[in-house]
Amino acid sequence: MNSFAGGVHPSQSKSTSQIETEEIPLPKKAVVPLSQHTGSPSKPIVKIGDLVKTGQLIAEATGFISANLHSPVSGKVSAIESRLHPCGYNFDSIIIDSDDKDETVEFKKNDPEKLFSDEIVEIIKNAGIVGLGGAAFPTHVKLSPPKEKKIDSVILNGCECEPYLTCDHRVAIEETEKVVVGLKLIMKILNVEKGYIAIEDNKEDAIEKFNNVIASEMKQSQANKIKIVKLKTKYPQGAEKQLIKAVIKKEVPSGKLPMDVGCVVQNIQTAKAIYEAVYEGKPLYERVITVAGSVKRPGNLKVRIGTSLSEIIDYCGGFAGDVKKVVAGGPMMGITQFTLDVPVVKGFSGLVILTEKESEFYEPSNCIRCGKCVDVCPMGLVPTMISRLIEKEKYEELKNYNPLDCMECGCCAYECPAKIHLVQNIKLAKFLIQNKKI
Ligand code: SF4
Ligand code: SF4
Repeated sequence: MNSFAGGVHPSQSKSTSQIETEEIPLPKKAVVPLSQHTGSPSKPIVKIGDLVKTGQLIAEATGFISANLHSPVSGKVSAIESRLHPCGYNFDSIIIDSDDKDETVEFKKNDPEKLFSDEIVEIIKNAGIVGLGGAAFPTHVKLSPPKEKKIDSVILNGCECEPYLTCDHRVAIEETEKVVVGLKLIMKILNVEKGYIAIEDNKEDAIEKFNNVIASEMKQSQANKIKIVKLKTKYPQGAEKQLIKAVIKKEVPSGKLPMDVGCVVQNIQTAKAIYEAVYEGKPLYERVITVAGSVKRPGNLKVRIGTSLSEIIDYCGGFAGDVKKVVAGGPMMGITQFTLDVPVVKGFSGLVILTEKESEFYEPSNCIRCGKCVDVCPMGLVPTMISRLIEKEKYEELKNYNPLDCMECGCCAYECPAKIHLVQNIKLAKFLIQNKKI
């Protein structure tokens, strides 16, 4: 079965995959950070005291790599001030007190058959769509490659390889048609004939649904060729470079992007959001997240952007057991939170609640030179060497080991028997190089 070199097999812990998505009540107060995407922050176009409707544009993109923001509730703008973001930093945010009526602006439906590709991209841009797999890169930018980069393949990333997370899996099962039509729109925009839905072999039910929907789509339109590619369940199968290698057998060189090998990768929920923006005229102001681990009622929840983590935990019945750690995202790459007073943002895939035992801290011991970290690194790096150079402050040699290629997947640290803080050390190496400190 298709896969990539390296990687690890952490326990799946995906018991929420069989729980249907529930829509949670509206937040009382929505906190919408102006920075919730890659690129420059959005600029507010509302002021304190303004009344807004759900789906109304409240902040505009500033520059090409940026994104629009829309109100997730109807109500009143009560503040525009600095608030804590789940990434751990403070950002200016628009705060809206919900009137609990959820009055929406009028959504303008479109017929993509009557639209040129650049008009569809404009709709996607106006809807504020960003990659919903975590990186939150503005989607209109990915769909506007420079002319010299010829794109021939689109891969829909349905791997969701992080333990615990199942929200993309649920969207794949519950909204299959929207996801497939979203993929067809992406293929139309990029004028490509090869579309792939890449999905790990632990999601047989989703694979079956995709097969059924694609079979019926094919009858209507022979032009678009979509293939389901079943991949081995392995972490980090969903990382872009590993996915491309597994699906189309192309290697994205160091420092290059998927478009350099003629490929664009999009996430399952992003494809659904594209469908909704184009066909229904609905901007991006909600998404599906997973809440898993030690909560009384784990599950998959459709939540408005700006909902606080404390409201989500309350909806799930509160914590269960001796909770030690709350992680935004999966346990391998997620960010531990120190308060629940932070909002869901567009790239927020889930909350994992871990107990004391599950979040044990290990003191590192000496490297035993077993080479396991090298064997599992999907980027072909030598984590032990980078880490050693950092510890010994031999900075001048670091660049020879390409730490900037590290995607911080955590495989090396997961496998290291000496529990050395490899990722922290490699992050420090990246920081020093990126900020020209060495
Ligand atoms: S060095 Fe980076 S890319 Fe390689 S396994 Fe460690 S965290 Fe992942
Ligand atoms: S896995 Fe840990 S102990 Fe083994 S070589 Fe790498 S850093 Fe050293």
